[in-house]
Amino acid sequence: MKKHNYSAGPCILPQEVFDKSAQAILNFNDSGLSILEISHRSKDFVAVMDEARSLALELLGLEDKGYKALFLAGGASLEFLMVPYNLMKEGGKAAYLDSGTWASGAIKEAKFFGETVVVASSKEENYNNIPKGYSVPADADYFHCTSNNTIFGTQMKEFPSLDMPIVCDMSSDIFSRVLDFSKFDIIYAGAQKNMGPAGTTLVIVKEEILGKSGRIIPSILDYEKHIKAESMYNTPAVFPVYASLLTLQWLKKLGGVAAVEKLNNAKAELLYNEIDRNPLFKGAAAVEDRSNMNATFLLNDAAHTETFDTMWKAAGISGIPGHRSVGGYRASMYNAMPIESVQVLVDVMKALEKAI
Ligand code: PMP
Repeated sequence: MKKHNYSAGPCILPQEVFDKSAQAILNFNDSGLSILEISHRSKDFVAVMDEARSLALELLGLEDKGYKALFLAGGASLEFLMVPYNLMKEGGKAAYLDSGTWASGAIKEAKFFGETVVVASSKEENYNNIPKGYSVPADADYFHCTSNNTIFGTQMKEFPSLDMPIVCDMSSDIFSRVLDFSKFDIIYAGAQKNMGPAGTTLVIVKEEILGKSGRIIPSILDYEKHIKAESMYNTPAVFPVYASLLTLQWLKKLGGVAAVEKLNNAKAELLYNEIDRNPLFKGAAAVEDRSNMNATFLLNDAAHTETFDTMWKAAGISGIPGHRSVGGYRASMYNAMPIESVQVLVDVMKALEKAI
């Protein structure tokens, strides 16, 4: 039986992506070859890469606005250092919002390059909220934030308007909601949540901000080199890029980001309503900052843990134990998760209440 997969990533993808990926491993485009054995320079794969890059921009409403999309390797974590390498001037400074473990990972890397100002942090509250009311030094080379904090289940609802490049790690909520994406100058996201399997990272860059740091950048870390090579500077992750393209095509057919946002809102409402209604549970994140992608919650009485765990496992649910730094539970409801799976979890929570 197929599980209700609440994994935080790698995670659920649309069934049609699994089916088409499986077919492409056996016989890609009726070529008599597997996608795993073709050259990344073959006509068929160049077409995949080109379509994936343009579809990513189209779905975010960023086509013809001076942006380029890249599919790079190294995960979102490599972007933690590529961003300062490409944007922070020698002797310059960068501003970061510290809203979670991944944000603080990005801050750690930026510090290797120069002055890194943490404009606000919710670390003292174990990152259970998004810091607000901060100011960003006007002379920073860029501002970096994390739109969705996968571990803590918080999500930025508003972004500052600034007179400097804005960089956003959207690893865990890209393509999940409508935003004015043209507010951002760099958006990056590991594929392994809303876009595809692990192994590639989508990086969207506004070209005009590049080439200003004055640094000598090693080629593999230089966004300009990747753009010039049309995301083929070195061998890209052929299969993850293909599976990402299939997911983007699925999203377009569904009606794009606006359509999936409605579904995501409905799923989140269903689960958070139950967390708030059911006397056995409480949410872990500040209500106004709750993430629609990762809902974190706890049992009020840890004595019910074993019973609850037995019940959700019996219902075919997988992947909801919380991250060790928060404890409790984390239900990740990425784009591909059907609302029926959320209903199964809500039904188990109700059944626990009855059983106790
Ligand atoms: N940023 C966020 C918001 C994440 O959730 C993750 C991974 N879960 C990362 C960065 C790190 O991504 P990667 O493992 O692709 O380096």
